[in-house]
Amino acid sequence: MQTSPLKKMPRWVSLFPWLVMVCALLFSALVVVFGLHNAKRETDFTTQLTLEKGSALISALEGALRTGMGYHWSDEVLRDLIHKVGAQPDIASLVVTDRDGKVLMAADKALVGTAFLSPEALARLDPGRRAKWDMAEQPDGARVFQVYKRFFLPQAEARRHGGHRMRSMGGSCGLLEAKVAEGASLFIFVDYDLSPLEEARAADERHMAVMFAILIFVGVVGGFTLFLLANYRRSRKVVQETTAFSSEIVRTLPVGIIATDMGGRITSANPAAREITGIGREAAGRDIRELLPGVWRVVETQGEAREQEAWCTFGEKRRVPLAISASRIVTEEGEAIGTAIIMRDLGEIRRLQSELRRRDRLVALGNMAAGIAHEVRNPLSAIKGLARFFMEASPRESEESRMAGIMTQEVLRLDKVVGDLLDFARPDALNLSDVPLDEVVERARGMIGPDMEARGVRFEADLPKPPLIVRLDRDRMTQVLLNLFLNAVQAMPDGGMLRVRGRAEGSELLLEVADTGCGIAPERLADIFSPYFTTKASGTGLGLSIVHKIVEAHEGTIEAASTPGEGTVFLLRFPFSVA
Ligand code: ADP
Repeated sequence: MQTSPLKKMPRWVSLFPWLVMVCALLFSALVVVFGLHNAKRETDFTTQLTLEKGSALISALEGALRTGMGYHWSDEVLRDLIHKVGAQPDIASLVVTDRDGKVLMAADKALVGTAFLSPEALARLDPGRRAKWDMAEQPDGARVFQVYKRFFLPQAEARRHGGHRMRSMGGSCGLLEAKVAEGASLFIFVDYDLSPLEEARAADERHMAVMFAILIFVGVVGGFTLFLLANYRRSRKVVQETTAFSSEIVRTLPVGIIATDMGGRITSANPAAREITGIGREAAGRDIRELLPGVWRVVETQGEAREQEAWCTFGEKRRVPLAISASRIVTEEGEAIGTAIIMRDLGEIRRLQSELRRRDRLVALGNMAAGIAHEVRNPLSAIKGLARFFMEASPRESEESRMAGIMTQEVLRLDKVVGDLLDFARPDALNLSDVPLDEVVERARGMIGPDMEARGVRFEADLPKPPLIVRLDRDRMTQVLLNLFLNAVQAMPDGGMLRVRGRAEGSELLLEVADTGCGIAPERLADIFSPYFTTKASGTGLGLSIVHKIVEAHEGTIEAASTPGEGTVFLLRFPFSVA
């Protein structure tokens, strides 16, 4: 039996888990890169937006201050305006300083008069015509987005509006006018609170980190799971192939194997076991003690794994010689889970053994016959000569002459026996001719006719019409049928039926000789063709050996099937071709 080698997994299957992991890593890296890029874009956008918002606010304030100066709003009015504008929720502080960094006006009134920036820090700023921004730190340490701008209140402006003082606005804006008089520049600082923005960015970063972690986790866990899956698949394949391999061995073994659980219930039986015992697949689950009591008895009486030979009966009457051994089925953990019963059908071995015995005896018989021929025939002819001499020397009708006559007859009979023995031992030279089959059958029946009548045996021949013409040795084949008929008649002392059936089947001639006699015990069936095997008190045990020999000489075969108490069938096969 050829076993299929383990199929190799395609290479990509083993690379797949790695691929998943690498993909997950790449994907996580992409998430990080995109996240960072997004965050930068968002920062740029927010910066731009806040700067524009700050610029607009400063321009508006600048305008308001100019107008306020023009109309000589009082300092209070301007401060109030600054305070209100600076109260917007995202503005951390709004201050107007002079060129030394001292706060002139502020949303937080407490800051007025304090130094917002040192003159050096103020000098480091790079104010142009447009508003600028910078990151700054509040006194409490909070980082703010600072938009600032320097602006001038030209003296011309103050002068132009000098005559139209708006007393209604509550006095002059002396503060600004004082600065204008100095020709100094002013600074407006708007600080935007960045904490909501930074909180959002931190949330984004957290989100990104979580995504990254999840992707890495999914990649690693996914890859690892795929590794495990691939290994599992590989192991399962190995197990499947190993199981298939051992099942195939068990299935095709010519030895019967039956497995039972600890309760004696059959769990499996291979085809050989089913053929030997005749049980079917439905036997699974049945108790072996009920189904195959004979086999179980042998198992119970023998020791572990020792083979024991026994004849077991299956079905109604089928007796089979078996060699049975049994052993416990034990798991790796040492737990006994059942019994394995192994049985070998010894029928074929027995048949071969008896064939061997038959041939041994034939050889011995041949040697003996040759010896007898040499050693016995010469003295026999001397005795025969002497007996003739005594017969001639004695008066006719005398006692001596009669004795000499008996001696001669017996010597002749002995000579014939020796001759037969020699014939039997010598290789057969057949005298072949084309003979109608029913003629041979009829000749043999004619010879045994009186015996059959005496025992009340009926005869029936079922032969093809027109008769089959067969090429055979007429005398030898008559001898074959005669021996078979004789045995059949002797097996039916109280009468019965002797039936001969012949037919051509393909290139074979089948001839069946069946009787309804006492039958042959199965254990003896294998020996009946051996020379000297006999169960009869006066038998020679040569009849069936001669039959076998003649059939073999015709290149045919003979086999016997018998049921004790019911009868025996001999089946002869010869090569046959239509003449
Ligand atoms: P013999 O007839 O001298 O015993 P055979 O070789 O003819 O020798 O037969 C051998 C044995 O086979 C017989 O002793 C008998 O036990 C058995 N035998 C042969 N033919 C039959 C039969 N038709 N029915 C029963 N037993 C048979």
